[in-house]
Amino acid sequence: MSRQIRAAVSFAMLALVLMLEGGRDANAGSPLPDPSKAGVADKLFRLDCGHSLANDESVWTPGENVGRHIEFSSTCWLIKHGNEWLLWDTGVPESTLNDPRGWSTLPKLIVYHLDKSLTDQLAEIGVKPGDIGRVAISHTHGDHIGNMGLFPNSTVLMQRAEYNWIHSPDGSNDNVNQLMALARKLLGTPKNLQLIDGDTDVFGDGSVTLLSTPGHAPGHQSLLVHLRNSGFIILSGDVAHLEENFEKDIVPTLNTDKAASIASMERVKKLIATYNAALFINHDKSETDKLRLIPAFYD
Ligand SMILES: [Zn+2]
Repeated sequence: MSRQIRAAVSFAMLALVLMLEGGRDANAGSPLPDPSKAGVADKLFRLDCGHSLANDESVWTPGENVGRHIEFSSTCWLIKHGNEWLLWDTGVPESTLNDPRGWSTLPKLIVYHLDKSLTDQLAEIGVKPGDIGRVAISHTHGDHIGNMGLFPNSTVLMQRAEYNWIHSPDGSNDNVNQLMALARKLLGTPKNLQLIDGDTDVFGDGSVTLLSTPGHAPGHQSLLVHLRNSGFIILSGDVAHLEENFEKDIVPTLNTDKAASIASMERVKKLIATYNAALFINHDKSETDKLRLIPAFYD
């Protein structure tokens, strides 16, 4: 090949490469939506999935609040997308309803109470458990998966890392071993299990995105929801339990990985900035109590 022809071929190849690069969406390869192009879910409903009393707040705020009682909320969220329904977390087991003794994942530490069943709250808007096509879980602690048995035909969306973790051998921390055993029992063997690796666009239109936020548990995830009027909302899962923990990167002692917990909180802060998103912190009762409750909704 002459030098001129070689130069011409190189130039043509470079042009081709540039064309291909330029034609590709800047977000290609990432399941995270482009904020200006993301589709929308129709409605987001909050369900009261229980509340709990813990006898030592310092478990969640190491070094502070030793021996102080704290009350947490437990929250589930229902998303309407076209004529499909997605439920985010399933809360405290319905068998706890109105039981004055409550229910516990770790009896020495925390007791949960339930004033309203998930089924009754769904019925308020004419939805039956069998109508829920997808159940996505933030992680496998009992207060988040207490009612998986109501949804035997739903597709269960969870991180593969979480599934593998609860099926791994016991470690040295008895509390963690107890949580894993309870998780296996409550999760059971879902008929339609979809194991997720990292961030995932659930409906393929950028409206609902699972966000990998490990640390509280090995396969913990949060949820990014895009609505027409409310914009982007991030449902925390347990990436943080309290607003102050989130602001100051405070990590509960029960979390499986402190460094990952901090990295996940920092990640969520960046996503809040990127999407100008609101953050709804699942267990922060004083914040949760101010949010709309089913049959009211965000759209
Ligand atoms: Zn929790």
